[in-house]
Amino acid sequence: MPTEAEHLALMHPFLRERATRALSIWRGSARPGEVVKVVESVRPLATQQAYFAAGKSKADGIVKLSLHQFAPALAFDVAVIVGGKYVASAAASEWQRWGAAVEIVGLEWGGRWRGLVDAPHAQIPLTDRVKLLQAAAGVAADGDWGPATTRAVGVAGWPAVTTELWSRLAATR
Ligand SMILES: [Zn+2]
Repeated sequence: MPTEAEHLALMHPFLRERATRALSIWRGSARPGEVVKVVESVRPLATQQAYFAAGKSKADGIVKLSLHQFAPALAFDVAVIVGGKYVASAAASEWQRWGAAVEIVGLEWGGRWRGLVDAPHAQIPLTDRVKLLQAAAGVAADGDWGPATTRAVGVAGWPAVTTELWSRLAATR
C-alpha cells in the first residue's frame, strides 16, 4: 500500500494542493479516534476492470475511462475510519465533513453523485480539467472547449482525451 506522500506525489499538482488542504481541514476538526487515509490515486487498468465487474465503478476502463486511470492523477479516494472501523455509510457525519472539506477546496465530491454515490472519491472538476489542458496546450484557459482548444489539444472534447494525451500534456505544463 503506497503511503499518503506517495499518493500525493502521483497527483497532478492542482489535485495535490487541494487534496492536502482538504485532508488538513478534516483533520483539524477530527476528534480522537477519527482518521482519514488516502487509499487510491492512480489506478491500474486491471483494478479498474475488477471494480467495474463488482459494480463499484461505472467506468469499464476501456470504452469509459475512470479519472483514476489518468497520470498524473485527476482523482483520489480516501477511507474514513472511526475507532478503528471503516465508516460504511456515506450519510455519516464523518463523511459529510469530508465532503464539505473537499468542496471547500474546489474539488468535486463523489458523495454528491446520484445513482452510484461514491463518498470516498474526489476529483478535479471538468472545467478545471479543461483549463489545465488549455494551459498546457498554450490556449486561453477559460474552461470552455471551443474550436481553438480542439485545434491545440487535437481532440474535440474531454471524453476523447486519452490517458496518453493527458500524460503528455500534463507533463509539459
Ligand atoms: Zn475514486
